[in-house]
Parts: sequence; structure tokens; C-alpha cells
Amino acid sequence: MGGGIGGLTTAHELAERGFEVTVLESRSTVGGKARSYPVPGTATDGRKDLPGEHGFRFFPGFYKHVPDTMSRVQSYDGKTVKEHLVTATKFMMARSGGVDPVYFLKLPRSPAEFLQELRALFVPLGIPVWELAEFTGRIFHILKMSHARRLGELEKISWWDFLKAGNKSQAFQDLLARGMTRTLVALRAEEGSTRTVGNTLIQLLMDFGRGELDRLLDGPTSEVWIDPWRTQIQGLGAKFITGAKVTKIEMNGSRVSKVIATHADGTTHDYTADYYVSSVPLEVFRPLVSAEMKHVDPSLDALRYLKTAWMNGIQFYLKRDVPLASGHVLFVDTPWALTAVSQAQFWRSKLAEYGDGEVRGILSVDVSNWDNPGILYGLPANQIQDREMIRNEVWAQMKRALNDDANKELGDDNLAGFSLDEAIVMPNPTGVANLEPLLVNTVDTWRHRPNASTKISNLFLAADFVRTYTDLATMEAANEAGRRAVNAILDQEGSTASKCGLWKLEEPAIFDPFQAADKVLYELGLPAIP
Ligand SMILES: Cc1cc2nc3c(=O)[nH]c(=O)nc-3n(C[C@H](O)[C@H](O)[C@H](O)COP(=O)(O)OP(=O)(O)OC[C@H]3O[C@@H](n4cnc5c(N)ncnc54)[C@H](O)[C@@H]3O)c2cc1C
Repeated sequence: MGGGIGGLTTAHELAERGFEVTVLESRSTVGGKARSYPVPGTATDGRKDLPGEHGFRFFPGFYKHVPDTMSRVQSYDGKTVKEHLVTATKFMMARSGGVDPVYFLKLPRSPAEFLQELRALFVPLGIPVWELAEFTGRIFHILKMSHARRLGELEKISWWDFLKAGNKSQAFQDLLARGMTRTLVALRAEEGSTRTVGNTLIQLLMDFGRGELDRLLDGPTSEVWIDPWRTQIQGLGAKFITGAKVTKIEMNGSRVSKVIATHADGTTHDYTADYYVSSVPLEVFRPLVSAEMKHVDPSLDALRYLKTAWMNGIQFYLKRDVPLASGHVLFVDTPWALTAVSQAQFWRSKLAEYGDGEVRGILSVDVSNWDNPGILYGLPANQIQDREMIRNEVWAQMKRALNDDANKELGDDNLAGFSLDEAIVMPNPTGVANLEPLLVNTVDTWRHRPNASTKISNLFLAADFVRTYTDLATMEAANEAGRRAVNAILDQEGSTASKCGLWKLEEPAIFDPFQAADKVLYELGLPAIP
């Protein structure tokens, strides 16, 4: 059920091990939130429609599961999808009042070196050195903690409180507290679990050091990865039924007996199987969980404590390319928490083959705050019922950040068109809806998240809200969850087939002795090593 990254991973791994697989997907295409899609009506003279997407795709260096899958999938040109990943070398912090492209060269070898690098990055943005020193101390404090303590203590405290951000400068609050969580994963610092934010931040810092912070695909995601992947999975014998929306999971005693799907033509069909894997997102799965299901697996009731937030993309098609930086651009002081990638520099696909042939650049922007008033209309994005007004507002916020120096990167005359995520729907007059929100890791919700294998013996879960090592709603987590679901099925089946690979998050070995000592301290009920 569901053909996003979780569903595709499950189908791939099962089909490779000789299972007969049927994927039920409600949309006409697969890929879920990771898909790219042709923007209807934008092509002329036999060219392809311009590529649109739910949001740009970023594959940090610490990902292991997705790259492993990519290395086993052939793209359109016979190369593996992994060979289509391009490493970005820089990122830009754009803000009103000055623009600074910045990049890290090496992994800091000591807290002092780490502080030095933070100073170079953040002092020009207005964060006092002593606050950076305290921030450094906090990161090293986490690194020295055992995972048991992180779960027992850090999971229960918000990133905001952990940083004591309330007593810090505005710049600290905007950049290191709120900016870090909101811009990257649409999570409010005041709500975000320090365990999740801290663990992920450590991974990203290590990626900086390895020069692998940021990887991108060299073309639209579905063209390079998702569509060839689906073809390969079909080649292994799996069947895809698109336009099939699962509306009910029926139980017989302690097992699922069938699922019912409504097809695009309005007909209803029953599907029966030995094993059922749900890869639909949280907000879709929750209402599918019946009282009977909760009776067999009471932990499924806890799904109601999990939260989602809005994070959606908008693409600006440009007549002249504006590369900005060879990597991501963080618009650090935009009210709608914008981040962007200027894609043409990474893409092998010739943009002249799309649309009217005149587009030379695409700025793909994620909007991560839909609740804050904007600068043009004074309205939050989730109250604007006009796609063009959202375009104007995002464009104005980016211009304010970028056009305040001699470069003046964004000119109105350069704009050839735009596409706002198709998941944003505006059913006038009742308001704006987002069909595809994203799970956010709020404080103390790990205990409410389900495992890939449930107490319903033939039901498994493979989506980004499942408990994983990755522990952040990403393609990596969805892929890992798919692997966990398959491994659980193999266990049930008593299969001798090889298990799917799973990788823990790695941390610098130098902290191993501290973490081992802290594990003992935590078991004894003693405080953490300062
Ligand atoms: C704007 C944005 C940018 C992001 N950027 C990144 C990034 O750069 N890197 C990264 O790793 N992650 C990123 N993510 C997160 C990532 O996209 C998701 O965590 C991941 O794709 C989720 O995969 P999934 O398979 O769990 O769910 P989904 O992608 O939601 O897939 C679920 C599938 O189920 C289908 N479905 C829904 N209801 C039904 C039904 N009733 N019956 C049948 N099928 C159904 C859906 O159509 C969909 O295909 C981003 C998320 C957003 C919102």
C-alpha cells in the first residue's frame, strides 16, 4: 500500500527475493513525496513538460540505505543511479543586509577548531563568540552521551530548551535554534526532540568534514531514479496498480484478511495477500487503523500523538541561469523559512529539451514555514488562496535576501514561469489544504512511533514515521523502514534469503570511551559527564 520510497524499497527487496508483489498506489505515478513530475501545459513543439517537484532532493553523505539501493538500480542510461549523484561543494547563507557563500573544508579535530569554524561562519551573521562557545559545548556534550541517555533524557527536552535559546541573542535564536530545525525539516525548535536534532546535526557536521554534506541527482528525480527503479522492479515480476486508493484494511481475528481499494474509475476492489505492507504516510495510515486493529496492537493507538507540518516546494523557471552557489542556499532570515537549490549546474539533462526551449535555470525552493506572515501581503502561506500570490511572496523574500548587494541576482525580467507543489490545493472558499504534510519529530514521541513489524502478524509498516536508526522523516528513513519490513517478513516466513542491509548512524570513534562510561553512569542513575 503506497508507492513512495518506503513502498518501492519494500517491493524491490521482496521481488529480488522471489516474492510476488503487488503495489497499490493512489496517484497515477509512484515516488510519493520524492517524485518529480511534468508540469502540465508547459511544453511546446514536442518538447517535454517542465519538471516540477514536491520539494528538491538532498542526499547527505551520511545516508547509507538510499545510496545502497541506488547502486543496485540502473538509470535511463545504463549507469547506476548512484553514479548520477553529484556532490555539492558549498552552501550559501543568504540574508538581507549581505550575502556570504561559505563552505567547510575539513572535519574539526577538536572543540577549539570547531569553535573557530563556527566563528568564521556565524560571527559575521551577528552571533556573539561566547554563544558559539556554549553551542560548541552543547554539541560535544551530546557526543559524549550514551544512546541510552539520549533516549532517556534528550528525547524529552526540546532543542530550544537544550540550547537555553530563550536567553540568547536574536541571531542565535534565528540561526542556530530555530533556523537549524525549521529550515531543514519544518520542525519548530520549541517542539523538536533534542535527541533527533542533535543526532542529525552530528551527522551533518561529520559530512561537512568529509566534504560530502550535500549530494544531488543530476536531473529530475523521477527521470533519473524513480521511473527506472519502477521499471526494474516490474522486471523482477512485481505488479503496480496506480490510481488505486486503499480505503480499508479488514481484519479477521488477529490478522488482516484483505484491503479494499477504490480505483480511479470509481470501482472498488478487494486485495488479499499473505503479507500486507503499509507504506502510506502517517496522515493516511492513521484513519485506516480500525478499532479491531488497535485491539490486536494497542501501540497503533499512539499514532495520534505524532505530528505533521507543512513543507512544500515551488520552482521558478528562469530565462538566464542564476547558479547562486554550488549547493544549497539557506535564506536565513526569511519569514517563510526558505531554502533553495539552483539546479541547472548539477543537471546533465539539457533544460532546452523542456517547456518552450527557452528555460535555462530552475530555482527549486522549499517553503518550510506556512504559518508566519510574509513581507508582501502580511499573510501566512497557508492563508493565501492564490498560487500567483504565493509565487510573488516567495520571490520577494528571496529578492530581499539576494538583491541587497552589487550582484542583484534575481531580476523580474528573468522569470519565465513557476510551479507550486501540486499537493497544495486551494478549494475556494474553504481554504488552502496540503495533501502531503511531513512527519516532524516532536519531543518525547519516539515511544509513540511504531516498529516496522506490528502485533498484527501479517501487517508491516514501511514509511518514514516508523522507528529507524535514521529517525528523521526522510527518504533514508523510508528506505530503512522498507528494509526492516522485509526483514520481518523473512523472519516470519522462516526464509533463508539474505537480510536487507541496515546501517546505524556512525559517530567519531574518539567518543566511544566517553559513551561507554556514560552508559554505566546512566544505568547507575548518575548525571552525564559534563
Ligand atoms: C518539501 C520536502 C522536501 C524534502 N526533501 C527531502 C530531501 O531533500 N531529502 C530527504 O531524504 N527527504 C526529504 N524529504 C522527506 C521525504 O520526501 C519523505 O520523508 C519520504 O519521501 C517519505 O517516503 P514514504 O514512502 O514514507 O512516504 P510518501 O513519499 O508519502 O509515499 C507514500 C505513497 O503512498 C501513496 N498513498 C497515499 N495514500 C494512499 C492510499 N490511500 N492508497 C494507496 N496509496 C496511497 C502516496 O501517493 C505516495 O506515493 C522532503 C519532504 C518534503 C515535504
